[in-house]
Amino acid sequence: MAKYQPTIGLEIHIELKTKSKMFCSCPNDPDERNPNVNVCPICLGHPGTLPVINKEAVKKVIKTGLALSCQIPEYSKFDRKNYFYPDLPKGYQISQLYQPLCRNGFLEIAETSSHLSLRSASPSSEIAGKKIRIREVHLEEDTGSLIHPPGADYSLVNFNRAGIPLMELATEPDMESAKEARKFAEEFHLLLHYLDVSDADMEKGQMRVEVNISLSKKKGKLGTKVEIKNLNSFRAVERAIEYEIKRQEVLLEKGEKIIQETRGWDDIKGITVSQREKEFAQDYRYFPEPDLPPLHFTKKEIDEIKAAVPELPQKRRERLVREYSLDEKSAEIFVYNKKLGEYFEKVISELPPNLSKANLFKLIKPASNYIITDLQGLLRGASVSDKNFLITPENFAELITLIYEGKISSKIAKQVLGEMFKTGADPSHIIEEKGLIQITDEVEIEKNIKEVILKNPKAVEDFKKGKANAFQYLIGQVMAKTKGKADPQITGALLRDILDKDI
Ligand SMILES: [Zn+2]
Repeated sequence: MAKYQPTIGLEIHIELKTKSKMFCSCPNDPDERNPNVNVCPICLGHPGTLPVINKEAVKKVIKTGLALSCQIPEYSKFDRKNYFYPDLPKGYQISQLYQPLCRNGFLEIAETSSHLSLRSASPSSEIAGKKIRIREVHLEEDTGSLIHPPGADYSLVNFNRAGIPLMELATEPDMESAKEARKFAEEFHLLLHYLDVSDADMEKGQMRVEVNISLSKKKGKLGTKVEIKNLNSFRAVERAIEYEIKRQEVLLEKGEKIIQETRGWDDIKGITVSQREKEFAQDYRYFPEPDLPPLHFTKKEIDEIKAAVPELPQKRRERLVREYSLDEKSAEIFVYNKKLGEYFEKVISELPPNLSKANLFKLIKPASNYIITDLQGLLRGASVSDKNFLITPENFAELITLIYEGKISSKIAKQVLGEMFKTGADPSHIIEEKGLIQITDEVEIEKNIKEVILKNPKAVEDFKKGKANAFQYLIGQVMAKTKGKADPQITGALLRDILDKDI
């Protein structure tokens, strides 16, 4: 049913990582287990108290805006959004409506034709991007949290979260599918990690996604907008949109009207459910926050924040492919796992400096493969930035060089890497101590081959009859006899020579 064109926009709330709350000095501690301990008269909304702006939070929003190529106006200010809810002790939320901190940016996402989740084993293999426009990024405060004990006829409230700095991003309705919306959320999540402005742990509610979706028959024309609130995983974003597209299509086909409303997502049933009819800005009686001065930024202040914006995921993707000729899949792994990517680049910088460019690339490829496959296998989800990770980039580079120089086989290399991982020792030390150096001496290899031939007359007979796997079997026997140390190429060549002569 591709009869209807979905138009999708996202609003994403992010709890910022700061020491204290947005307008008071209470700790911003998402891991606090005891309820109602990080509270004070300001965040509890006692009469007569005055808020003070958290500059760190303002800087983090501007940093995010700059990373999204937003315009940062010279002036910004806060507004009051009035509404009553039990977890909002003041009866209003300090937010921004008229002059948000950042406006008119964009974020590029990979095209989704062969979309695969970044979290799956094989990340998206595509780099070509689509620009999703950002309408604004503003700053507000979070509400407290309500707890509804199962079966109880009361609810509990915890104000630890009340007043935590909350950044809200709103996109233009530039997305056309569930996959695209998911991709945007994933890319923005990655960006937040690069900027170090939030942990954005979705399970902890530190990143919450709202979807605006409408269906229309013609591209560019908008239908009635439905909002889906509080989506707490990338999967939920994708599933909720897919469900909503189908639901609205069915209604439109029946000639029914779509109601402009807010819907919730039931993750277990896999459906959206009507919650309430949509409020409009005028319902909140916004007015300028009288207790806070307007914000003013100088060019120097903005430039300082700009200087702290690191290389961002999209740029990093492009650079890794360009500089190291990595395939896009490997580059994506190093972009997604930033620390692993940094480790990879340190390893490359420790490779022998006198190599020609062509030879250097012969080492870069195995280095990335050993890091992505073997090292990640040993790490089992741990990070190369952990204190107990012992392999220095110098030692890793040495291991790759030893493989390249033919001093150890790839089989031995895995054994050496395992040992390096356990002890942090340097590879040449391990090879020497354990006697693992590759045997390249032809006389010694020939001696081993002759013994194998004597012990395996049947395999030799099979080889003569033309059975190709008999040859591989004999190679395997030589390797086993030398505990994997015989140089496989020399062994293969010598074995063929000896067998051919024998015939
Ligand atoms: Zn407080």
